[in-house]
Amino acid sequence: MQEKVKYIIVGQGLVGTWMSYYLQNKGLSYKIINHSQRPSATSVASGVMNPVTGRRMVQTWMIETVLPFAVDAYTSFQEKVGVPIIKKAAVALIHPSLQMKESFDYRLSHDNVYLQKNDSALWKSFFNTPFGTGEIDSCYWIDLIQFLASGRELLNENYIEDEFEIKDLKLVDDGIEWKNISAEKIIFCDGVHSMQNPYFKALPFAPNKGEALIVAIEDLPAENIYKNNIAIVPWKDNLFWVGSSFEWNYDSTNPSIAFKEKMIASLDSILKLPYQVVDHLVGIRPANTERRPFVGLHPTHPQLAICNGMGTKGCSLAPYFVLQLLNHIELGTEIKKEASIERFYHLLQ
Ligand SMILES: Cc1cc2nc3c(=O)[nH]c(=O)nc-3n(C[C@H](O)[C@H](O)[C@H](O)COP(=O)(O)OP(=O)(O)OC[C@H]3O[C@@H](n4cnc5c(N)ncnc54)[C@H](O)[C@@H]3O)c2cc1C
Repeated sequence: MQEKVKYIIVGQGLVGTWMSYYLQNKGLSYKIINHSQRPSATSVASGVMNPVTGRRMVQTWMIETVLPFAVDAYTSFQEKVGVPIIKKAAVALIHPSLQMKESFDYRLSHDNVYLQKNDSALWKSFFNTPFGTGEIDSCYWIDLIQFLASGRELLNENYIEDEFEIKDLKLVDDGIEWKNISAEKIIFCDGVHSMQNPYFKALPFAPNKGEALIVAIEDLPAENIYKNNIAIVPWKDNLFWVGSSFEWNYDSTNPSIAFKEKMIASLDSILKLPYQVVDHLVGIRPANTERRPFVGLHPTHPQLAICNGMGTKGCSLAPYFVLQLLNHIELGTEIKKEASIERFYHLLQ
């Protein structure tokens, strides 16, 4: 017998978890299909929401809107599940060069909202700081492993552990059918797997490989995120996430020795504390060259939708754009133009 729901979601990463959370809050019926053996960018990400980016330390796209929205969203999620998910954690900048120090000093006195002077003696006991230090405020750390686990618990019987294959999807007049379930809409939140989806593969995805080491560092305070040429982010207990790489062109999706050696060389040059590498992670970011999300309904099959392309900023972008998509479907509200897939309708038709 066919089971009927309003929505099927494919993928329980950051995007799929937020999708299910908002559907549950709106009292709408859904099922979520996720194959936990499939690679997930969310499970290897450091979980940092940082309002400034790049060597010039400029504000990231839409940060004044998406950051407060995301902080409220993760705080509500945390209250609902009753375990810590979000933590405010300033980024301690250990300037890697004179040029970066000058860039920071320039930004401090020009249109600065988030940067602070911070020449704390504390950092000097943990790091070599020949070019001084600074600070970025209003940064947050999301415990993504806990977020995925708590999200999974909230799903209960709505969760289906299965591989989604396009051959099992049937488009019907008023919706879709997948195996023994029928739904009004199916929303693809399956990260880089959407690149193989015949309905959405024409979107200009540009997947990006990122690696990180998990490193045990005794006595390094876990209240801060540390940034030099590399980022050192609290993970759990005395473990820190150290990374990352950012590769548009790669031959293999495996962890690379070259990356590991590079991180070890960087740690050796800045860290004064002993450390031990305990793990090496790798993931593929669902990115694109425009660095803007892919959100919306398919132009000719409106029973199909996508929420993807979060790139390097999934933590801050996902809650906002997931809700934009649901409100668009349920209430007819607009999706922000730069994120809407309407800009690619000519490719999808
Ligand atoms: C090394 C690294 C560091 C990062 N650091 C940060 C950071 O600090 N801050 C930040 O904001 N972002 C960061 N990101 C980016 C962030 O991880 C992504 O933007 C975000 O996780 C994308 O989420 P998603 O839900 O779209 O995709 P994913 O997390 O990849 O989720 C896709 C889900 O779909 C499932 N799936 C795929 N195919 C199928 C199938 N056929 N059937 C069933 N299920 C399927 C997968 O199992 C997975 O659960 C980082 C990424 C990497 C790689």
